[in-house]
Amino acid sequence: MIQKVFKQNEIIISDEQENQLKKYYQLLIEWNSKMNLTAITEYDKVIWKHFIDSALIVKSIIYREENRTSILDMGTGAGFPGIVLAILSPNKQFTLVDSLQKRIDFLSVVVAELKLKNVKLYHGRAEDLGKKEEFRNQFDFVVSRAVAELPLLLEYCIPFVKEKGYFVSYKSKKYKEEIKSSEHAFSELSCELERTEKYNLHEIEDERILLFIKNNSITNEKYPRRAGKPKKKPL
Ligand code: SAM
Repeated sequence: MIQKVFKQNEIIISDEQENQLKKYYQLLIEWNSKMNLTAITEYDKVIWKHFIDSALIVKSIIYREENRTSILDMGTGAGFPGIVLAILSPNKQFTLVDSLQKRIDFLSVVVAELKLKNVKLYHGRAEDLGKKEEFRNQFDFVVSRAVAELPLLLEYCIPFVKEKGYFVSYKSKKYKEEIKSSEHAFSELSCELERTEKYNLHEIEDERILLFIKNNSITNEKYPRRAGKPKKKPL
């Protein structure tokens, strides 16, 4: 069933990848009874709204370039899109970050049970990790879904992106307004919207918009501001 739905969306997955996704679903449901991981629990809906939705970036040519291998997922929560992408792209290296320890505890069980060799997990806030040398301007891609509005999200994510790398923001229909309100953030953080990719999720009558934002230079050391400040006063 999972393989079939992926194929419907022009993404071919192996039997092993299907089994990993099935196991991930089981763990998600099991742990969801103990902690808040997802409001969506029905099998079909999880496949579409979490798995397929997370996976859409693999259709993008820029993502598939072989020399772009390091990816950070900011505010990964229960592992979306990071875990799904780590399953689909075993040749890329993933760093998943979340500010809630419990979610990282869940993800460490997922990584062990699915035997994922390409995932590192970090508990922390974007504003704190973004100041650290080992994270700063280090990743080919930063991805993020459902974490914040774009002006705030840019300050959380751009400091992690390599010069000439991309921040890919998973957005929905309201994306144009968010872009409009991000002009100041784009200029302060020296980045620009390079392309917009739209994907139709016919079955669930939904649409996903991926914004490919290019980081044009090393981030000004002013950013990110200290924890809590970006949210209180977005750029
Ligand atoms: N990306 C997942 C998804 O699409 O299902 C989770 C979305 S959830 C609504 C937002 C997540 O972002 C939460 O798990 C939260 O702990 C995390 N988060 C919020 N602010 C953060 C910050 N400043 N630094 C790191 N993680 C943050």
